[in-house]
Amino acid sequence: MRDVIVIGAGGGGPVVAKELAAKGLDVLLLEAGPRHAKPRDEWTTFEDDANNPLTGYFRPGPSDRSKPAWFREWPQNSFVWQLSGVGGTTQHFYGNYPRAYPGVFQGYDGADRNEYDVNHRFPFTYAEMVPYFEWVEATMPVMTAAMGHKEQTFFRGAETLGLPVQTTKTTLGPSYRPQENAILQPGGTAGKTSDKNLLNYPQATGCTFCGYCFQGCMRPNGAPRNQFAKRSTDNSYVPMALTANVWARGGRPIELITDAYVTRVHAERRHGVLTATGVTWRDNNSGAEHREDARVVVMSGGCTENPRLWFNSGLPNPNGWVGRGYTDHFFDWLIGSFDDSTGNPKGVGSSARLDFPPYGGLENVGLPPALSAFAGTLSDSGIRGQYGNGRGKTGPWDGPAGRVMGPELKELMAGGIDKLMTVLVITDDDVEPDNRVTLSALPADENGPIPKVTFKHRQRTARTVRNREFMARKAAELLRGAGAKKVYRIDWAPLILHVQSSMRMGASEQNSVVNPRGETRAVKRLFVADNSALSNALGGPNPTLTSQALATRTAEKIFATYFGGDPWVRSESPVVSTDPRVSVRLGQLGL
Ligand SMILES: Cc1cc2nc3c(=O)[nH]c(=O)nc-3n(C[C@H](O)[C@H](O)[C@H](O)COP(=O)(O)OP(=O)(O)OC[C@H]3O[C@@H](n4cnc5c(N)ncnc54)[C@H](O)[C@@H]3O)c2cc1C
Repeated sequence: MRDVIVIGAGGGGPVVAKELAAKGLDVLLLEAGPRHAKPRDEWTTFEDDANNPLTGYFRPGPSDRSKPAWFREWPQNSFVWQLSGVGGTTQHFYGNYPRAYPGVFQGYDGADRNEYDVNHRFPFTYAEMVPYFEWVEATMPVMTAAMGHKEQTFFRGAETLGLPVQTTKTTLGPSYRPQENAILQPGGTAGKTSDKNLLNYPQATGCTFCGYCFQGCMRPNGAPRNQFAKRSTDNSYVPMALTANVWARGGRPIELITDAYVTRVHAERRHGVLTATGVTWRDNNSGAEHREDARVVVMSGGCTENPRLWFNSGLPNPNGWVGRGYTDHFFDWLIGSFDDSTGNPKGVGSSARLDFPPYGGLENVGLPPALSAFAGTLSDSGIRGQYGNGRGKTGPWDGPAGRVMGPELKELMAGGIDKLMTVLVITDDDVEPDNRVTLSALPADENGPIPKVTFKHRQRTARTVRNREFMARKAAELLRGAGAKKVYRIDWAPLILHVQSSMRMGASEQNSVVNPRGETRAVKRLFVADNSALSNALGGPNPTLTSQALATRTAEKIFATYFGGDPWVRSESPVVSTDPRVSVRLGQLGL
């Protein structure tokens, strides 16, 4: 019998695992996908090798790449971008770590208080969340982003919008700023040279500006895993969880099993209350099934897989909210073409942002070539000049919105991707019950019936649509202000990079799956700790910091409720994940 089983080693699961391991609990972390223990031997910088959704090393699928990827049904034009493996989708992520806007929490009384998703606020105050934000920010650590030429271009445009520069971690109003991100600042020779021979650790530390964030961070060369620049959880929380005995007094390292697909959460009635008792997991390689019991089970499989696992486990869904309210920031994508180089694909992927509560935000996103092509084609408005659906016809962009092709594409690409600047529109997206995960009627895979992700794309709330249009206009104005000679709006189809709230935490029993402690309302001793537990779309800020802060709070609740422990976040100081004791122990473990 384990103390705690955590399902999923992505953005959220390792946080709970690390925090409870530090308190001496016996934690088993089960991850469906692979563990890339030696990334420099396993990864490349080729985009297709990494990102191909069917065969890439970052696909959702088992370690053995000769086996098929795991299929999900999307009945609409869309792309669900979630990864399996230790680090989960954070292996791809850009490490941007803004805090959620205060307006999405209970008790907010700013002048714009009625402008947010008011029916789906977090069931506690922003002030209560701040120590958890600070804890994660110190642990990762979160730093002001290293910047370059493309950020200079972004800021030149932002200045023309008449907004102030934000200087606080909390977003107090419309403003722009460097990102706060979870990528270590360059040190030594890093950022000063592109000569690979001079970019070895410890001569170089932190981000080397290689530009390959998407293919997984494995630099600087020769660095211990916990010193890799990008703080995806495989480089931050997981190394800490595996070494908890050396940096935490009384700490106990977790057991991590990979290629371990949890197919069922078990629950039984105890004293009349349905209570989680353990899980069954399946070994991807042998097909063997294993049963493990635990005092507490934590679901951290992400927004798509948690509902699937719930349904496949036959757990009750009394208010029907499991899988509902799948928010996705209803992104859009604008491309500006410039006469001169913007440095678009170089360095840290995205180091500048603009926040506009309550509408959402903007950030520059530099992409390598194949992903630039992909991002420019995933349109829900048809093909510019050929056909369209009437959306985005006019605006401060060179209309209409849609996929660019033919002579125009040639013109756009004439200067190469170096002369583009691409801006991501991040929308504050209302929780909508009809955007959801259900089980597909397509054939089951080896792990059971597969998930179906449905978006009623053209039926978003009026507020969500208004927010997106507002931010798309701001993006176009920013690009023009920065000097773009032409601005294209793509009108993205749902591209699920940020996804939240499919097992949402809420104050009301009517529209939430987990209670304000993070425990599911229907099954005792079963907790949710990842993006799916987020109450809403946060106002637009990228979700991982808030998700990890909430997971830290949930870990405290688990410890206090079921293990008789005291909360620690307000009384202790966090250990930074780059701690040399972690590096030394990883070396002893051959990691
Ligand atoms: C290109 C890209 C860029 C991004 N950039 C940013 C950014 O800059 N800032 C930011 O905040 N966010 C960013 N994100 C989003 C970020 O990656 C997610 O917020 C984060 O990974 C969510 O964590 P999660 O734990 O909810 O899910 P995931 O990270 O997807 O982890 C879930 C894990 O659970 C495992 N799992 C699922 N089901 C089971 C099962 N049944 N048994 C065992 N294991 C299971 C999966 O294999 C996976 O490893 C980005 C995402 C993408 C794709």
